[in-house]
Amino acid sequence: MPPPDDAPARVVPLSKPTFGEEEVQAIRAVLDSGWVAGQGPRGAELEERFACWCDGAHVVAVSSCTAALHLALLGAGITAGDEVLVADYTYPATGHAVRYTGAEPVFVDVRPDTGTIDVDAAAAAITPRTAGIIAVDALGQCADYDPLRALAERHGLFLVEDAACSVGATYRGRPAGTLADVACFSLHARKGITSGEGGLLVTHDSERAARARRLSCFGVESAHARQASIGLPIPMFEELGYNYKLSDLQAAIAIVQLDRLPTLLAERRYVAAVYAERFDDLEEVTVPVVGEERDHTWQTYVLTLAPGISREQVAQRLRARGVGVNIGTFASHLQPVYGPRPPCPVSADLFARHLAIPMHANLDEDDLDYVVTEVTAAVRAAAAAPA
Ligand SMILES: *Cc1c(COP(=O)(O)O)cnc(C)c1O
Repeated sequence: MPPPDDAPARVVPLSKPTFGEEEVQAIRAVLDSGWVAGQGPRGAELEERFACWCDGAHVVAVSSCTAALHLALLGAGITAGDEVLVADYTYPATGHAVRYTGAEPVFVDVRPDTGTIDVDAAAAAITPRTAGIIAVDALGQCADYDPLRALAERHGLFLVEDAACSVGATYRGRPAGTLADVACFSLHARKGITSGEGGLLVTHDSERAARARRLSCFGVESAHARQASIGLPIPMFEELGYNYKLSDLQAAIAIVQLDRLPTLLAERRYVAAVYAERFDDLEEVTVPVVGEERDHTWQTYVLTLAPGISREQVAQRLRARGVGVNIGTFASHLQPVYGPRPPCPVSADLFARHLAIPMHANLDEDDLDYVVTEVTAAVRAAAAAPA
């Protein structure tokens, strides 16, 4: 059957994970092994392998980045009555994790160029109740960790890196994951490497890592660890833990994805370079800024639409033409779940004007040509005929 007349010439998804025969074989090996639950041999291998990306830090594999954030805050003793400063421009998992502990997220505005937490605004938001700061590596680029660490040290605050989007990013030559007291990565399908769902908690503090591991397993040592001992060790449940384990099936996929990481990063960086060049002189959009001394992972690539251009109109046209688009991410302070909040005008502006366009490791030259042509036409049409 021929396609209908109005079918797009091409379909280019916003995001697409890269999987191959290697992942299939890795899953089969786990199915055959007899250990498919969490904290088994593949989980341990993933932790060891990821530690190599984080200067040998301790790594705990968990079920999501949100779980990792929750465990990071619990480990720091954050509790009801505390305030935690949170970079406003982020997926609301960050604010949610604070609320899980009973503490209050205090949303802090971001830099207009990088979308990462504004350190001066963070300093101004500190009160006697402030217990910690969660900086977010927005869309895959690191926040300003040197001034953030200095601020945290000065006030005795716990610093967390929400590194959900920044597997493979660097800041001043140091890798994401080593920049704060604890870093939390995501293995969700939209991120740079994925096992469908999953997360990694990273810290240089071995006690902190051990506690996070116990809390991810109901508060006790893993069954796999106990299985190895002689006799019948019976765990004692002394604190209220959670079930935040990553299954060995997911860990096995993530190990293969780690092998792919250098290639996936290079592909995304190539796409970003093509977009930066081809959109550079398109007046209606601004291409992303990479902050000084950092490597971006390009988990999401956003164009900032000029004021007055209807993003809705642009997005509708692009979707009809087969080009996957979305918002960048969220202004947390505008989400009703958190109740009324003071304004974060920069974050609100990025939330309103960012347009994410296709970014992944499976885009060929024809895809890129198509995206550039269609985005150019869509923003020009919207500029010429405002909604
Ligand atoms: C995706 C994302 C999260 C949540 O990650 P999950 O693994 O889905 O829990 C948290 N923070 C940021 C900045 C994200 O982009």
